[in-house]
Amino acid sequence: MSDSRIRKIVIVGGGTAGWMTAATLARILTTRYCEITLIESDEIGIVGVGEATIPQMATFNRMLGLDENQFIRETRGSFKLGIQFVNWGRIGHRYFHPFGRYGLDMGGVSFHAYFLRMHQAGEAPDIDEWSLQAKAGQMDKFMRSIDAGNSPLSDIAYAFHFDAGLYARFLRRYAEERGVVRREGRITGVNLRGTDGFVESVTMEDGATVEGELFIDCSGFRGLIIEQALKAGYTDWSHWLPCNRAVAVPCASVDSWTPYTRSTAHSAGWQWRIPLQHRIGNGHVFSTDYMSEDEATAILLANLDGEPLAEPRTVPFTTGHRNSFWEKNCVAIGLASGFMEPLESTSIWLIQSGIARLMAMFPDRGFAPAGRERYNRIMLTEFEEIRDFLILHYHATERTDSPFWNYCRTMEIPERLAEKMRVYREHGRVFRENEELFNDTSWFAVMFGQLMQPKGFDPVAEVMSLEETRDRLAHIRQAIANSADYMPAHREFIRQNCAAEAA
Ligand SMILES: Cc1cc2nc3c(=O)[nH]c(=O)nc-3n(C[C@H](O)[C@H](O)[C@H](O)COP(=O)(O)OP(=O)(O)OC[C@H]3O[C@@H](n4cnc5c(N)ncnc54)[C@H](O)[C@@H]3O)c2cc1C
Repeated sequence: MSDSRIRKIVIVGGGTAGWMTAATLARILTTRYCEITLIESDEIGIVGVGEATIPQMATFNRMLGLDENQFIRETRGSFKLGIQFVNWGRIGHRYFHPFGRYGLDMGGVSFHAYFLRMHQAGEAPDIDEWSLQAKAGQMDKFMRSIDAGNSPLSDIAYAFHFDAGLYARFLRRYAEERGVVRREGRITGVNLRGTDGFVESVTMEDGATVEGELFIDCSGFRGLIIEQALKAGYTDWSHWLPCNRAVAVPCASVDSWTPYTRSTAHSAGWQWRIPLQHRIGNGHVFSTDYMSEDEATAILLANLDGEPLAEPRTVPFTTGHRNSFWEKNCVAIGLASGFMEPLESTSIWLIQSGIARLMAMFPDRGFAPAGRERYNRIMLTEFEEIRDFLILHYHATERTDSPFWNYCRTMEIPERLAEKMRVYREHGRVFRENEELFNDTSWFAVMFGQLMQPKGFDPVAEVMSLEETRDRLAHIRQAIANSADYMPAHREFIRQNCAAEAA
C-alpha cells in the first residue's frame, strides 16, 4: 500500500452518525487498510430522536449487507410509505406526500400534467387515488414489491421508522465485529498541530490521548472538533426555518400501525407521530419566538394516541449548517455538520450522503484541497436544495390564524424556491434540479397538497384527448385500488416477517 495513505481514523461520537460512519468505513475500507477508533461518552449520551427515514436508507442497509427483516426486528421498526400532513395548507385539510411516483408518465408527458388537466376540469379531485403508497397508507396496509409485471405492486417505494438508540446499538455490533475499536469516555481537549492547525489528537477525561490522521466529527450539535476547535462557523437559517426547539415524548402503541409518519401543524410549529412496534414516537417542533415551552408541551401531551411512557424531553437547535463541513483533516457528519429540522426526515439521509461523498473524495495524508473543496461545495448545495423544499411547506399555506403562520406565509424566500413556485403557478410544472434529493413527484405532492393553485395545466397534456385521458386515468386508478386491496395490513406484514420479540 502507498506510504501516504491514512492509517488512523478517529470518529468522535457514537450516535446514528458515528456508528453509520464506523460501519461504512469498516465495510468498505476495512481495518486492514487503517485503524478505526470510535469514541463516545455514555454519560453524554445521544440525541435519541431521529426515527423516520426516506427510501434511500434501504440502499445504505444493502451496502452494509444487512438483512432487512433482522434490521426491522432489532430496531423494533416499522415501514413508511410517506408522510401525512394535517392542518398545513389550512386547518382541517390533510394531504399525503407519498414515496414513489404518481400514476404513469405517458408519451413522454408527466402523469401530473394529465392529472392536473382532469382536476381542473373538476373530474379528479384527489391525487392520492393515483399513488399506491398514499392509498395503501390510508388503509394501513404494507408489503414489499413483488414480481407482478405492470402492476403497481412491482414497484413499491418505502422507508423505515426505527428506534434510534437500538439502531446505534445494532450498527455498533456490526462495526465492532469488523474491527472498529470503541473507546468509552468524555473528550476534554482537542490538540492542534502548531504548524498548520490540523488535528493531531484528542485528550480524554482520564488523561489519555487518542491520535489520528483523519477525524470524523460526529459529536452532535456541539461540533466538538469542527466548531469548538476548528471554528468552522455556522450559517443560521432561522429566518427561513424558524422552529428552534422540539419537545419529544414516546407514548403507548395503538392497535393499528400506520405505515406513514404523521405531521400535524399547530399554531407555532408541528407535531410528529412515528409508529414503532413497541411505542409511538411523538414530538412537537416549535419556535420559541412564538410559543413557550410549557404551552408546546401541553399541546403535545394533549395530542397523543396513548399513555406517555416517559417525561417529555426538550431538544433545542438552530437550523442551518457549518460554513465548512470539511475543515483541515476533520469532516463533520450528522448534527455536527448542521440541522434543518425533521419535517421531511432528511437528516439521516444527509449522514448517508456525507459518508458516500467522503468515500468518493477519500483523502490521503497530503489532504489536497481539491477534494475537500468539492465536498464542501456539494454538501452545501445538498443542504440548500433540501432547505428550499422544507421552506415550501411553511410558506405555501393559507393559514392566517397565528403570528407564526403569518410570518411564514409572508416571509422572503430563497430565489431558487421562488422560481419553482412561479413556474408551478403558471402551468403546474415541477422539476427536479440536477441531482436534488426530492424529485418532481415530491415537489408536486407538496405544492398541490399545500393548496397552491396553478392558473392552468401544462399545454402539452392536450396531446391526448380528454376522453382518452379520462379512460387512462380511470384504468390506472383501478389498478392502484386493486393493488391496495391485495396488500396485507401493515401490522400483519410485520408479524409475519419481522416482529420484534414481545412487540
Ligand atoms: C427533534 C429532532 C427530530 C429528528 N427527527 C429526525 C427524523 O425523523 N429523521 C431523521 O433522519 N433525522 C432526524 N433528526 C436528526 C437525527 O436525530 C440525527 O441526524 C441523528 O440522530 C444523528 O445524530 P448525531 O449522531 O449526529 O448526534 P448525537 O446523537 O447527538 O450523538 C453525538 C455523540 O457524540 C458523543 N459526544 C459528544 N461530545 C462528546 C465528548 N466530549 N466526548 C465523547 N463523546 C462525545 C455523544 O456521546 C454521542 O455519542 C432529528 C433531530 C432532532 C433534533
